[in-house]
Amino acid sequence: MLEGKVAVITGASRGIGRAVALEMARCHATVIVNYNGSEERARGVQEEIEALGGKAEICQCDVSDFAACGEFIQRVIQNYGRIDILVNNAGITRDGLLMKMSEEDFDRVLDTNLKGTFHCVRFASRQMLKQRAGRIINLSSVSGVMGNAGQANYSASKAGVIGLTKAAARELASRHITVNAIAPGFIETDMTDALADSVKEEAVKQIPLGAFGKPEDVAHLAVFLASEQAGYITGQVIHVDGGMAM
Ligand code: NAP
Repeated sequence: MLEGKVAVITGASRGIGRAVALEMARCHATVIVNYNGSEERARGVQEEIEALGGKAEICQCDVSDFAACGEFIQRVIQNYGRIDILVNNAGITRDGLLMKMSEEDFDRVLDTNLKGTFHCVRFASRQMLKQRAGRIINLSSVSGVMGNAGQANYSASKAGVIGLTKAAARELASRHITVNAIAPGFIETDMTDALADSVKEEAVKQIPLGAFGKPEDVAHLAVFLASEQAGYITGQVIHVDGGMAM
């Protein structure tokens, strides 16, 4: 399905990013596994892909750093000559009540989740424009659509990702570059593992399908959005949330 495609996946050392990397590799894309601090886990993902007979490379880059993202994307273009798929998945939470939230916690989340997405789109779209083709997939969240108490920073960042996705979709459409967002609900990863059991129990009650999703539930949609078959879909926010937001 993705033969000959070069896919850059940010935050692919763990969780949803890892699942997207593995699924794209299964569909025969060459995968660039970006990470920030978890080098060993990123190497583990590379080894899993190679064990499947796929091709992968790991690449450290803090997506909140504008210049580092420029160098990262440039390195990929130098090594592979193209970027067909960009998945902006790297993300963090720093939860807390609005009145007690520090400026640092607000900025850190915005810098990683929203500016990190802008940085990678900014540099990769230049190459995609030259190719007159490309697929950009941004990870938003149900929190960015509905808002979530205790997540003012995170909800703002993920709502921002939706605006960025739609603006980029309009700007890049004439060159056959599609830009879409995925809005997951609660997915079983380190991010949701950190939640208190009482919070998880309350969360499940809000999910019509009655359970947290798996990273693979998101990965399957990412592969479809990256495929030729999704060529007429752009500027959309697609929910993978067991029916939470409808
Ligand atoms: P996770 O398990 O906590 O993994 C986060 C990933 O992002 C890691 O690979 C991490 O790399 C990377 N990362 C964090 N900061 C980075 C930075 N500055 N530069 C580069 N990479 C960085 O998270 P997840 O649950 O898989 O979430 C993935 C995405 O889906 C996020 O954007 C998240 O907001 C979104 N999402 C998740 C859920 C959910 O329920 N899990 C729901 C809605 C949306 P290192 O390990 O190397 O630091």
